[in-house]
Amino acid sequence: MSWNLLGHETAIQFLQIHSQPEKVRHAYLITGAEGVGRETLALAFVKALNCTNPPTKGDFCGECQTCRQIEAQAYPDLAILRVAEGSRELKIEQIRAMQQSLALAPYQSKYRVVLIPDFQRATLGASNALLKSLEEPPSRAILILTADARESLLETISSRCEVVRLRPMRIDDLAKELQEAHGLSESESRKLAQLAGGRVGTAIHYLRDEDLLEKYNDALDQLEEILGFNLRGRLKYVEKLQKAKGQARETYSFLIATWLTFWRDVLICSEAGEVPLVNLEKEELIRQTAAGLNLQQVAGILQRHEEALTMLDQYVNSRLILENLLLNLPHLES
Ligand SMILES: [Zn+2]
Repeated sequence: MSWNLLGHETAIQFLQIHSQPEKVRHAYLITGAEGVGRETLALAFVKALNCTNPPTKGDFCGECQTCRQIEAQAYPDLAILRVAEGSRELKIEQIRAMQQSLALAPYQSKYRVVLIPDFQRATLGASNALLKSLEEPPSRAILILTADARESLLETISSRCEVVRLRPMRIDDLAKELQEAHGLSESESRKLAQLAGGRVGTAIHYLRDEDLLEKYNDALDQLEEILGFNLRGRLKYVEKLQKAKGQARETYSFLIATWLTFWRDVLICSEAGEVPLVNLEKEELIRQTAAGLNLQQVAGILQRHEEALTMLDQYVNSRLILENLLLNLPHLES
């Protein structure tokens, strides 16, 4: 059984075994890039732990009241502790408040579960406070942390957790699964899988966005313009964008992820590869761009886009990231 999720078979098998009372541990850490599906997997695990009508061992029905409450994140024995709105850090006071409720017995199920997403954003004080719960875990309590990487957490924390590591799927595999599970065409699913960089959660998030295609084409058009701009024009572009968008980080991630698909196409052209292009509607521009650059330059541009996405995930100044990226792009004469 797959828990009805795309990909992550090994992790699912591992957690299915751990959902059994004789195997369950008191702390788990699920790591992987943002959008890879950490939280979805964590919630599926909580369902498998608590489902009142599991079809088979380690599975969950998805239909009982417990499963539905967990899906809605409104289950009395599940607390989700997030970084407060407007803050970038998980604070020690939040951990302390959670610990008080963790010490109580579960209301209605076997376990009281606390899920803490993005624990890499915990302050040192918060981390040290959590350590207490890991060293002397209350009975019938389970902690599930997620983080971008095991290395972002104190070793004293990660070493006390069962670590489940999620990786992005191969683009081809994700495209195939998206095609089967969501009835997309081959080219649509490849575009989406590429745009999401193989991260299932990001792909699903994009899939739910009705304006996605429009935004995507818009982002490519913007890139075409930018390539024709001089340095001043590029700085102006970033300034305008910065003024117009409140949620800069998400907007920038989307733009850069879209542009990354363009540069991958340029790389395919430079290598004279046989893989079909993702952005066929921009084929002429892609070929023209490839003709003006050598392989090393294209590889460098791709790498800088990937680094920019990683830095955005880490909350580095988004304006600076975008400016750096654009100032280092080649200039195309139209
Ligand atoms: Zn159920």
